Amino acid sequence: MKLYIKCDSCDQKIYLSTQARHKSELPEKFKLSCPNNVCKKEHEYKREDVIAEPSNGTGAGGAVVGGLLGLVGGPLGLIIGAIIGGVIGASTDQSDSEAANKFNSGG
Ligand SMILES: [Zn+2]
Repeated sequence: MKLYIKCDSCDQKIYLSTQARHKSELPEKFKLSCPNNVCKKEHEYKREDVIAEPSNGTGAGGAVVGGLLGLVGGPLGLIIGAIIGGVIGASTDQSDSEAANKFNSGG
């Protein structure tokens, strides 16, 4: 799952590079600079502002990665790549959305 905060200025999602599984693992308050080139505003955020998002894109993302591998490896590589990508995506989707739900409801 991915953790993000919405920028106070431009509403853009700022993804956090932390592997925290629970809000208590995050600092109570922290400052973040918006990565949006137009915005770049720094704000102070609370850990309550952090939202977990299941990496539901993993299925599609895995397929895309697999597809790219396929371009290198030829037609057979494409098939194998797509299957591997699909399997990785499927196995992580459910536990990931559970983890995200837990994070969001865990306070
Ligand atoms: Zn911003």
